[in-house]
Amino acid sequence: MAFQNILGNSRVKAILSKSLQRNRVPHSLLFIGPEGVGKKEMALVVAKALNCQKKTENSCEECTSCVAINKKNFPDVMEVSPQKDVIKIEQMRLLKSTTYLKPMVGKKRVFIITDAEKMSEEASNSLLKILEEPPSFSHIFLLYLRIYCYSILLLISYNCFIWLFSSSTSLITISLVFSFIKSKNP
Ligand SMILES: [Zn+2]
Repeated sequence: MAFQNILGNSRVKAILSKSLQRNRVPHSLLFIGPEGVGKKEMALVVAKALNCQKKTENSCEECTSCVAINKKNFPDVMEVSPQKDVIKIEQMRLLKSTTYLKPMVGKKRVFIITDAEKMSEEASNSLLKILEEPPSFSHIFLLYLRIYCYSILLLISYNCFIWLFSSSTSLITISLVFSFIKSKNP
């Protein structure tokens, strides 16, 4: 699945594609929105594009990197999801130990944390330490269902880029995101 295959959220796609083209994808991205609006698909396309051998602004879906990421068989793209409904400190420790290692086969390491609101307080604090000084070759994408939770409130102070998703993305939502980003990055 490439950008053009994801329904809706066209403004988010356009801006992410432009950031990829300019090689300016932020090291941490927060995708917030209800279930089934394409947050994970979007994160995966960015992960593929960052490692794609043919394209820079999108995934080609044909090269060995894109194919391996689709098959979940690419060591530099890792998914972290809750274990028994909680993302534990041990999972963050593993993420931390891998973040600082150069990519094994690809160009960038990408960590996709799903259901990030299920991070324990300890896990959130551990993640913040990684976000303080992320290595140039690593990206961390956090997918949230809810906007208000402990870890988001903490992450906001770390200049994370936030994307709000909706099933029918409105201009109001998008402009809110822009004004937020602008206020964090004057
Ligand atoms: Zn590719």
